[in-house]
Amino acid sequence: MHKKHEWTTDNYPRLRARDLIPGNWDDTPLVGRLTLGTDTIGTTSVTRDHVTITSNGMEEQIALAWTEQPYGARARFLCPQCGKRRDLLYVMEGHWRCRVCLNLAYRTSQASKERRHDLALAKIVHDLGGTEVETIAGMTIPPAKPRYMHWKTYNEVIARIDAHDAALLWLWLQPLAKAVRN
Ligand SMILES: [Zn+2]
Repeated sequence: MHKKHEWTTDNYPRLRARDLIPGNWDDTPLVGRLTLGTDTIGTTSVTRDHVTITSNGMEEQIALAWTEQPYGARARFLCPQCGKRRDLLYVMEGHWRCRVCLNLAYRTSQASKERRHDLALAKIVHDLGGTEVETIAGMTIPPAKPRYMHWKTYNEVIARIDAHDAALLWLWLQPLAKAVRN
């Protein structure tokens, strides 16, 4: 029906700050493996100040910020691009960044907004006697006006279709707009 853009946080290798174990730091870094599912995709080397990630022949150093919490210290990454404290980083072409810097949409928020508009459009089309939503270039093709319906009502329904189409277009364009701004 509608093209879904596929940049979501679900399909990118990620690194969670809470997986980093606070240690009794000395000069020896904690060395670990970076895994994606069951595959090893690199190595990690953690000191108190930063984590060094080696993956695909590329090495990247990410600064860490520790905060004391009731249950012990907790690490957060400082995103190498925006410098903000983040719990999750994602890798794209060997670079680890936060979701904002990579323009990743959270699957839940993005998909649920899209789904809401898709469902609304399906209902409108159904109420007009159509069986399924047909589109051209992402815009909904409205079914013909049912005989019993007044033109005024029909035009209002068309306006609602346009509003849903515009909202969906905006949802798809938003990540691109952010990419341009960066
Ligand atoms: Zn960032």
